[in-house]
Amino acid sequence: MTSYETIAGWLAELQPAVAFTGAGISTESGIPDFRSPGGIWTRFRMIMYDEFMNSAEARHEYWQQKAAGQLEFGNAQPNAGHQALARWEEQGKLLGVITQNIDELHQRAGSRQVLELHGTALAIKCQDCHERFDADPLVDEFRRTERVPVCPACGGDRLKHATVSFGQALPPDVMQTAFQWARDAKLLFAIGSSLVVEPAASIPRVAKQYGARLVIINRDPTPLDSMADLVLNESIGAVLAKVEQARAAG
Ligand SMILES: [Zn+2]
Repeated sequence: MTSYETIAGWLAELQPAVAFTGAGISTESGIPDFRSPGGIWTRFRMIMYDEFMNSAEARHEYWQQKAAGQLEFGNAQPNAGHQALARWEEQGKLLGVITQNIDELHQRAGSRQVLELHGTALAIKCQDCHERFDADPLVDEFRRTERVPVCPACGGDRLKHATVSFGQALPPDVMQTAFQWARDAKLLFAIGSSLVVEPAASIPRVAKQYGARLVIINRDPTPLDSMADLVLNESIGAVLAKVEQARAAG
């Protein structure tokens, strides 16, 4: 039996399944891993959340970085990996996706239950009145004017992407639901994450402690490989497409 057939069998037998995804699934759609060499985090200075809140200069620098970063998102489209996860949810096999990604490719592939641990780069949130806006028009405005846009709702000047910044806590309600899913999961897929950034990396560990079977799909080895039931160091899109073939054949 191939690993793909094994996964197909587990998916049929063990519910609910939950997927935890990191940058690796998005790099296969052409979105650079911000932490990798050449990624924007290596080219720009980190701006901490407190600095953003307290300094107009830091906010301007933040917007310059974001305007450059947004270009790297380009016209990225969901890939076979995102599509397989959306299909599994639709078929009632997958409870949902817990993701570290901020690109909304899971939602665009059709996933409905998506827990965004790091928020989304497709929205802007006013740090004063908490109103949310589409990111694109405001980023375009910054590019045209080179001025940090003001909040269309309250006129405040602390508009920030609805992502979790450096020095900012992960959203507690989202984390709580994510760990609940981890405890409920009978099968947990850790996909495209190096599984080193805490507390997110604890999600597969908790799932395993509560009895889930753990499948790790990642380009490189991870610190949790030894506790996994199956580890595949292969392309995510290719693995999930082969699992789909195995399911269709079985
Ligand atoms: Zn506002």
